[in-house]
Amino acid sequence: KPIIELQHVTKIYPNGTVGLKDIDLNINHGEFVVIVGLSGAGKSTLLRAINRLHDISKGNILIDGESITEARGKSLRNIRRDIGMIFQSFNLVKRASVLRNVLTGRVAYYPAYKTTFNLFSKEDKQRAYEALQRVDMAEKVYNRADELSGGQQQRVSIARVLSQAPKIILADEPVASLDPQTTHKVMTDLKKINQELGMTVIVNLHSVELAKEFGTRIIGIRAGEVVFDGPVSETSDAQ
Ligand code: ADP
Ligand code: ADP
Repeated sequence: KPIIELQHVTKIYPNGTVGLKDIDLNINHGEFVVIVGLSGAGKSTLLRAINRLHDISKGNILIDGESITEARGKSLRNIRRDIGMIFQSFNLVKRASVLRNVLTGRVAYYPAYKTTFNLFSKEDKQRAYEALQRVDMAEKVYNRADELSGGQQQRVSIARVLSQAPKIILADEPVASLDPQTTHKVMTDLKKINQELGMTVIVNLHSVELAKEFGTRIIGIRAGEVVFDGPVSETSDAQ
């Protein structure tokens, strides 16, 4: 079965704006999917719907066969645990160390006293360190987050998500504020994580060139609708 299944998903914002229009979409385990579209096309609305950062107006979304649309309480938390999110703005705690940022990414999985009293175990720290190694940030564990460049901060935010060991990573315009060289490094890291760890990765991009360079499957969206869905080799026909 697909790891993500959207069935007739429509999202209408309270002010009447149509964010998504009757979307049907299946994403399989281990896929690396790039969603491409202009600003305002609905990419972010789609990722937020999958994670249920906001509710949809119609339809159903299944994660690994379970409806996140209908889930409540503990079962919603359990589904969300399998989904990691990366944002354009990194969302790190600026004055905290890199290590602490990665550790507290797992905050939902620790009893409260651990974060309050700083009682992270050796294993916790080891896991955080390994996640940082994977994105080549291990030598910065004790730096403050705000001492890092944008690209480095984004890689720390990837490590933070990795330490959560999700099945799915959703990245909403993760390179929109980065220069070309840094962009390349971040995209390569995401691809490597997909290939080496088998996590399903969905990345929103507004650059078609970047989508073609890194995407295996590309989904084009425009005005809340899927206008293209296929392998990179077919994208030139679609334009
Ligand atoms: P992006 O440049 O990534 O497309 P936007 O500038 O469109 O981002 O949106 C920034 C924030 O404002 C987001 O949280 C989005 O949900 C919200 N937003 C976007 N458009 C509207 C709107 N028409 N009314 C209210 N909030 C909006
Ligand atoms: P993208 O991520 O592709 O830039 P979005 O998903 O942010 O596009 O936006 C899709 C549409 O929904 C746009 O028309 C945007 O203005 C609108 N929108 C986004 N967030 C909100 C919001 N919170 N309230 C109202 N409209 C919104």
